[in-house]
Amino acid sequence: MTDLRSEPEQRTTPTPLATRVVDHGAIAHNVRTLLDRAQRPVMAVVKADAFGHGAVEVAATALAAGATWLGVATVDEALSLRGAGFDAPIFAWLIDPWSELEAAISLRISLSCPNLDTLDAIAAASARAGVAALVHLELDTGMARGGAAAGEWVALCAAAREAELRGALVVDGVWSHLALASDPAPQSVASALAEFAAGAEVARLAALRPAELHIANSAGALAHPETRMTMVRAGAALYGIETVTGARYGLRPAMRVTSRVIQLRQIPAGTGVGYHHSFVTASDTALALIPVGYGDGVPRALSHGGRVVIGGRSFAIRGLVSMDQLVAEVDGDVRLGDEVVLIGGAPGEPSAAEWASLASTIPHEVLTGFGTRVALRHSRA
Ligand SMILES: *Cc1c(COP(=O)(O)O)cnc(C)c1O
Repeated sequence: MTDLRSEPEQRTTPTPLATRVVDHGAIAHNVRTLLDRAQRPVMAVVKADAFGHGAVEVAATALAAGATWLGVATVDEALSLRGAGFDAPIFAWLIDPWSELEAAISLRISLSCPNLDTLDAIAAASARAGVAALVHLELDTGMARGGAAAGEWVALCAAAREAELRGALVVDGVWSHLALASDPAPQSVASALAEFAAGAEVARLAALRPAELHIANSAGALAHPETRMTMVRAGAALYGIETVTGARYGLRPAMRVTSRVIQLRQIPAGTGVGYHHSFVTASDTALALIPVGYGDGVPRALSHGGRVVIGGRSFAIRGLVSMDQLVAEVDGDVRLGDEVVLIGGAPGEPSAAEWASLASTIPHEVLTGFGTRVALRHSRA
């Protein structure tokens, strides 16, 4: 337990009420699992602050473990990685034509290009930068999210080749994204692969010579060999999320989230707990107050069926999770200041997957959902 009479210097580094500890050994293990299984270069996807694990720290660990590319959504994310000193190839795929494309091009960030408007914006920015942009053309193969439809693809390839001949850019890649890769059935990705092969052939006929062809996400990399092409883009698997339905690849969850008991009270039977009294105590009992809530990323859906682990034992969350705090029903062995495991990796501890199932969502949303009050720490033991 923390000494309440804090030293003056502790005020400048306050003791966090809750902490995410990232296990870099787990991330390195997950990168090696992907490399072993896919037998292809791995692009470590560190978007959204590496799914909440810290983009700079995870990028360093992933590259040290053998990943060769870094992947992010936005140009801003790519620029911060360059700013942090990474010189590995970086691919950014969610290109806002109004973002700092000139800086990205100067810093050799590979930019996705899904259509003619973005191609124009990239070509104009490359003229200002005085450097040919590195471009990966994006084909939509069945997600109807970003990318060029088959009907726009011929014109995009032709325009990209013209821009190449003018020296505005180099088409270094052709890529797409899989909508159905988590389904282990091989036919789930077959139509996307057929469309991709047709698109790659159109690019070849337009005299484009992309070095990289990539479509696989974690699930593709792990479960669908024919999606692996020249490299795989892996996010979820890096963080230990098993995304292939019904399959396990021995990935290790990298995030542990803990807090501590800051109040303990004895409460009589028949007492309503929390907002709306959604829980009423069945007997005289002990309630522990834990200072995290939905404002910190603990889903309110954990109010019914959620649990915490204290001293290796599970205790039910009682009443509604509040914005800043939640209550667990404990017993006489729990002490003020005890560590509370919210998400852990050990057997018997709640996982991000358990939270996700209670909240009808996916572990990705749980891991990216923690707020700034939950400190982020790194363990490289
Ligand atoms: C998030 C994302 C990935 C990583 O997908 P995972 O399933 O997390 O491996 C790859 N490519 C794109 C375009 C993405 O948005």
